[in-house]
Amino acid sequence: MTRKKKSILIIYTGGTIGMAHDPFTGTLAPVNFNQIARQVPELQQFGCSLSALSFDPVIDSSNIDPSFWIRLANLIEKHYEKYDGFVVLHGTDTMAYSASALSFMLENLHKPVIFTGSQLPIGTLRTDGKENLITAVEIAAASHENEPMVPEVCIYFENTLLRGNRTRKHNAEHFNAFRSYNYPPLAEAGVHIRYHYGLIRYPIRHQPLRVYTQLDTRVGILKIFPGMSREWMHAVLSRSHLRALVMETYGTGNAPMDEWFVEPLKQAIERGMIVLNVTQCPAGSVEMDRYETGRKLKEAGVIGGKDSTPEAALTKLMFLLGQKLTNEEIKIYLNKSLRGEITD
Ligand code: ASP
Repeated sequence: MTRKKKSILIIYTGGTIGMAHDPFTGTLAPVNFNQIARQVPELQQFGCSLSALSFDPVIDSSNIDPSFWIRLANLIEKHYEKYDGFVVLHGTDTMAYSASALSFMLENLHKPVIFTGSQLPIGTLRTDGKENLITAVEIAAASHENEPMVPEVCIYFENTLLRGNRTRKHNAEHFNAFRSYNYPPLAEAGVHIRYHYGLIRYPIRHQPLRVYTQLDTRVGILKIFPGMSREWMHAVLSRSHLRALVMETYGTGNAPMDEWFVEPLKQAIERGMIVLNVTQCPAGSVEMDRYETGRKLKEAGVIGGKDSTPEAALTKLMFLLGQKLTNEEIKIYLNKSLRGEITD
């Protein structure tokens, strides 16, 4: 029996991987996909058929907003049946946000969506982009008993495949730019690509892909810090349009116990705002019952975000608020893992 050639769609959105120095200003700006393909002739040697689509214009990922995620989700939906897997070339700055958002927007995903990019443009001598792109394509095409090896939204970077909604950009200098502090890698690439099957989420039943494109952006992030003033709190909480707040607290979910801090928070929650507590620490989980400084928040109605990254917490809220659920329903979903984003 001849095995069908896998077909992979590369979606190029921009980012350093496809940038070149502007001859006048010296700054890095995105170039078109043909220039990338020319730098990676190895792409022709794959045993799979590769197609590419480019965003127009291609962008530095610092310019990304939720309308970009909607376009990306729509593109994947449009081409979902035709391809076996997707590779998204994306800037590193907001890659963790985009991968998190897409993980929520694509329900019942049973094909790989692998984000990658690079720290050095693909045209430069020491680029990390080539290896990242080639291995991302290989992972997107990998299958076992004709089922995709990794049917998840992931980030592949510097030899490691991470679950997208567990990932954070942790280094602006090293090639090893991403970490998943609270969940182990799904695969590691050395001489062989070793997949950790027990850690990968496989769909229990094949249900049709469902794409959610309603996102509510009336959310914000409040990082607490020593010296924060009551005026600061007031400025954030009095924003009447705000429906939900991710609060980045200390350690296991702790914050000051002063009345000027807790009382306005409590009132905002009583008015209907959802406040989700995640830790400022790169690793670990929120446990609001551990210290009095956490328990006060719980009593005020703050929800514990477990071991969520702030990126996953923010995009999960945008997604849930977009689904026209009641606050009670949203709180239930915040405590549950929808796409493997938290340990529940
Ligand atoms: N500023 C770039 C971007 O996020 C950085 C990168 O790609 O590494 O698009």
